[in-house]
Parts: sequence; C-alpha cells; structure tokens
Amino acid sequence: MTSVAVIGTGTVGSMALWRLAARGIPATGFDAYAPGHDRGAAGGETRIFRTAYKEGPAYVPLLREARTLWEELERSAGRRLLTPVGGVTVGPRDHPKVRAVLAAARACDLDVEVLTGQDARDRVPEHPLRDGEVMVVDHEAGYLRPEPSVGAAAAAAERAGARIARYTPVRQVRPDATGVTVVAEDGEHRFTHAVLAPGPWAAGLLPEPVAGLLTTKAITSTWFPRREESLFDPGRCPIAIRVGEPAYSCFPSVDGVGVKVNLHVPWQPVASPESLPRSVPVAYIAQVAEAVTATLPGLRPDPVRVATYCDAFTPDGHGLLGRQGRLVLAAAFSGHGFKLAPVFGDIVADLVETGATAREIDHLAPNRPLRRSP
Ligand SMILES: Cc1cc2nc3c(=O)[nH]c(=O)nc-3n(C[C@H](O)[C@H](O)[C@H](O)COP(=O)(O)OP(=O)(O)OC[C@H]3O[C@@H](n4cnc5c(N)ncnc54)[C@H](O)[C@@H]3O)c2cc1C
Repeated sequence: MTSVAVIGTGTVGSMALWRLAARGIPATGFDAYAPGHDRGAAGGETRIFRTAYKEGPAYVPLLREARTLWEELERSAGRRLLTPVGGVTVGPRDHPKVRAVLAAARACDLDVEVLTGQDARDRVPEHPLRDGEVMVVDHEAGYLRPEPSVGAAAAAAERAGARIARYTPVRQVRPDATGVTVVAEDGEHRFTHAVLAPGPWAAGLLPEPVAGLLTTKAITSTWFPRREESLFDPGRCPIAIRVGEPAYSCFPSVDGVGVKVNLHVPWQPVASPESLPRSVPVAYIAQVAEAVTATLPGLRPDPVRVATYCDAFTPDGHGLLGRQGRLVLAAAFSGHGFKLAPVFGDIVADLVETGATAREIDHLAPNRPLRRSP
C-alpha cells in the first residue's frame, strides 16, 4: 500500500500533504520547524497572485487551477487567504515585460485592460504614471497571506488524516528498489514514496546533478508608512509591479502600519537560509527610498520595517516538479512559486498516485537541460 513522506511542510509541501490526504493516500510530513514559520521562502506577510504571467503562457492554465484550489482551501479554512484586489503592471509602453504581460493575456484570452493618463490616475491613485507609461490591469490578480495559507493547508491535511512530524529535521532520504528510508532526527522511517519539498534548503537535500545547479538567494522586503490613511487600502488597492527603472513590487497596507515594497534588483546568493543577514546595507535602503520618492508619492520614504527571506532558484527561473523513481521533486520555485502552490501540491499527488500528470509541466521537468548560472 502506498505511503508517502513529504519532506518540508512549507508552501508546496503543506499543499502536497493536503492534496495527498484529500485523495485518501496515507502521508506523513516532516519539517525542521512547523507549518507557517517564516524562516524559509514563505515569510513576510503577503504574496502576489496574478494570471497575466510574463514568465510564460504555460503557467496560465496552472494559475487558473491554482485559483480554484485557493478558493477550496479558503472554504476549508473558513477564512480569506487570497484577496482579489486585482493587480497592475506599470511601466514604459514598449518595455519587454509590459509586452510579455500583454502577450500572455492575449495568448490565453485573459481579462486585462490597458489604462493611461487620467483613467489610470482615477483608478489607482497610489501608482501615478510617468510620461510614456501605461498601466496593464489584471482583474484576476490579488494578494495571498503566506503564513495563514501554509497553516490552512497543513490543518486541512491533518483533518483529512495526514500526520506532521514538527521540529523533526530530515538528514537523508534513501530510495531503493522497494521503498524509501527517511533518516530523521527521531530515527529511520520507511515509506513507498517520498516528496522532496525543502524550499531554500533544496541544494542540501535534492539528488545530484540537479542539486548542484541550485542557488539560494536572499530577497529583501521594506515597509513604508502611508501619507494618508485612504491610500493603499487593503480592501481596494491592487498589487503593483513596476517595470523599467526603478523596478519593484508593491502591496496594499495589510496591517495598517506599512506598505511593502520589494525592490527588483539582482538578488544575492546566500550559503543557506541559516546565514541570512538580519541587516541590509544602508546603501540598499537608500536605493529603495529613492525609488519610493521617485514613484510612490503616497508613501514616506523612511522604512518602518526591513526583513530578508530567501528562495531556491534554478538557472532558468522555472521550478522543479517531477518524479524520479520513488521520489517526487518539488522545489526551487525561483521567487514565484507561492501563487501556484495548491496546484503544484495536486500535481505532486498525481505523480505519486499514477507516476504522471495530465497537467502540462514540461517546463518544470527536473531532468530538463539546465546549466549552472555563471
Ligand atoms: C521575499 C519573497 C517574496 C516572494 N514573492 C512571491 C510572490 O509575490 N508571489 C509568488 O507566487 N511567489 C513569491 N515568492 C516565492 C515563493 O514564496 C516561493 O517560491 C515558495 O514559498 C517556495 O515554497 P517551498 O515550499 O519551496 O519553500 P518553503 O515554503 O520555504 O518550504 C520549505 C520547507 O521545508 C522545510 N525543510 C527544509 N529542509 C528540511 C529538512 N531537511 N527536514 C525537514 N524539513 C525541512 C523548511 O522548514 C520549510 O518549512 C517570494 C519569495 C520570497 C522569498
């Protein structure tokens, strides 16, 4: 009889556990911490959900399914996880990323609008346009709450019969002809299959050669106070991605204290999540403050909160999702995996149950040709 170990009950692992348990497949999650912690890739209050996906039209059907599953998880949790405030991409009309958003929307017949001038100012006063800029509105976008989402998936999994071994780091996973031995802090355990979902710890747990191609990178978030309470309202203000110079993502003020801005700069590699620096260089703060001053007049340019998180990245920026023998690899979602986590979890369940999936995930195949980043 099938029995599955899920190593890592963070974003994707908790969703995988939920989807496995929902199908009646016996599953045990192991985590070095506990679901909903902020030491890995899922900390920092909010994540963007969007469907006009500049990373490629292959994601759009997955995003549609993810949205349905987010709604199912919300019903199960009895609370909102995805707030559908919409989303805007702001930048020069001919910027390649603006064009990529519009191309993805056209290819998949998505409901987007292009606003300019007074229309954009009236609709989204928080994100004024500069000369030559446009605002592409993705009506299906919104923001997710990461910590409660992971907690909700883990709780749904446990209600459906899954077990979670909290504060139980896994040292080694050894597949053989008849099953998989999981060597954990509390001893050895046998399963028929194992799902490896260790997030930014992936380089230490995934098999070679793919493990050696991964990089863990630090992403810093900064929160800025609003000048007026009416701006960046979390029930109305869309999430925003500004492309060009400066480039960042920006969220509504979900806690009323600050508006989160993630500057899009080359993210720095770190040896492991344990070595994430608590402080960032003052020059970095000056750079974000300059971007705020130049483009976000509704914010005061002195941050009230700064925090750094991390994710595992592949060289091509697409995650790893696929089966290798008795293992399912589900990792390295390269800075954009949160929104897709429920559908990734469901695909994990397909891969465990039948060895294949009807979903189109060739772009995520762990054995695709990947070259180490220079
Ligand atoms: C700052 C930041 C902003 C982001 N913004 C967005 C966004 O707006 N939209 C979006 O879609 N995505 C976004 N992402 C990316 C997204 O958050 C990640 O791709 C996603 O959370 C990765 O999930 P994961 O399950 O791979 O990792 P995690 O959620 O970190 O889960 C990994 C889990 O594995 C456990 N673990 C690891 N090793 C072991 C072990 N040996 N034994 C036991 N347990 C172990 C860890 O404790 C952890 O719980 C962002 C990422 C960051 C860092």
